[in-house]
Amino acid sequence: MQSLKDLVRPNIWALEPYSCARDEFKGRDAHVFLDANESPYNTPRNRYPDPLQEKLKIRLAQVKGVPAENIFLGNGSDEAIDLVYRVFCRPCVDNVVAMDPTYGMYRVCADINDIEYRAVQLLPGYRLDADALLAAADRNTKVMWICSPNNPTGNDMDRKAVQRLLTEFQGIIVIDEAYSEFSDLVPMRQYLGHFPNMIVLNTFSKAWASASIRLGMAFASEEIIMLFNKVKYPYNVNQLTQNAAMEILQDIEKSERWINMIRAERLAMLPNLQELPIVKQVYPTSANFVLVRVTDANAIYHYLVDKGIIVRNRNRVALCDNCLRITIGTKEENSELLGALRSFQ
Ligand SMILES: *Cc1c(COP(=O)(O)O)cnc(C)c1O
Repeated sequence: MQSLKDLVRPNIWALEPYSCARDEFKGRDAHVFLDANESPYNTPRNRYPDPLQEKLKIRLAQVKGVPAENIFLGNGSDEAIDLVYRVFCRPCVDNVVAMDPTYGMYRVCADINDIEYRAVQLLPGYRLDADALLAAADRNTKVMWICSPNNPTGNDMDRKAVQRLLTEFQGIIVIDEAYSEFSDLVPMRQYLGHFPNMIVLNTFSKAWASASIRLGMAFASEEIIMLFNKVKYPYNVNQLTQNAAMEILQDIEKSERWINMIRAERLAMLPNLQELPIVKQVYPTSANFVLVRVTDANAIYHYLVDKGIIVRNRNRVALCDNCLRITIGTKEENSELLGALRSFQ
C-alpha cells in the first residue's frame, strides 16, 4: 500500500475540521448547557446528538467484533461510499476501478464527484477478474470497489482473488459486505488488522431490517476513520436513528431468526424458480435475493407489476440481459410470486 498521505487528497489531509459545540465539551459533569444555541424546551429532542455516536459504537464493537475506533457510522452506506471519493479522489485527476456489474452507487458518486470510473467486467459465472482489475489501475487509481456478495448477481467473490487484490493493489480497496449475513464466508471485517488499505462496508438496511433509519457502517484503520470523521457533516446520524439502532441491537437473536428464515426461504425458492418454464437460469446466491435469467424480462416484469408484485428488472445491466433480481420475502409473498409466474404465458 502507498502511504496514506499519498493516497488522501492534499486539501483533506490539511483540513482543519469544523469544531461543533458538542465536540468541545467532552463528557465532564455539567447540567447547564448554554453552548449550542439549543432551546431549553422539548427535552430530549432539543439537544444535538452525539456527533461521533460513541454509545452506539461501543455496542456495535461487541456485536461486530471490531474495536469502536475502527468504526464509522453514516447516513446509510451511501454516505460512506461518497466519503471515499471525497477523502481520496481528486476531481478530474484521480480514477477508481470497479467490477461490473455491481451496485450502482459507486458509479453515481464517482460521477457526482467528477472522478473517472473504470468498470471491469466479471468473468463467466460472475467471477472476479483480478488480473483485469489490476491491469486497469494506474498511478492515479486511488480506490478499487469490490462487492461481495455482489449486487445484482448475488454470488460471493472468490476469497483468494480478493486477498490477492488486497496485497497487490497499492491504493484503497473497499469491500461492500451489505449482504454478508446471508453468506457462509467469514466476514472480511474480521481481517481488518491484516490489510491497512481495506475499508469494509456493512449496513442496517438488509439483514438488520432497518432500511428506513438510514444507518451504514464502515470498518477501517483508525487513521482512515479519522479522515472520514473530519469530512462528514458534524451531526450526520440523528438521535432518532441512534436510538432505533440501539433498540435493534438489544435483540440480536431476533435479527438472527429473521436471517435464518430468509435463508430457509431462499433454499426453498431456488428449485421452485428453476422448474418454471420461463426460467432459463437461476444464479447461485449468497444474498437475500436471487438473480434469474428468464425468457423475456421486460414482459414478465410488467406482467408482475400489473399483479402488484414488484421485482427488479436488470435487463439493461451489463451481463444481465433478460435478468430479474428477486428479493426473498416472506413465505406468503414468495408463493404469491411463484403462483403469478406459473400462470404467465
Ligand atoms: C443495499 C445495499 C447497500 C445499502 O446501502 P444503505 O445506504 O446502507 O441503505 C450497500 N451496498 C450494496 C451493495 C447494497 O446492495
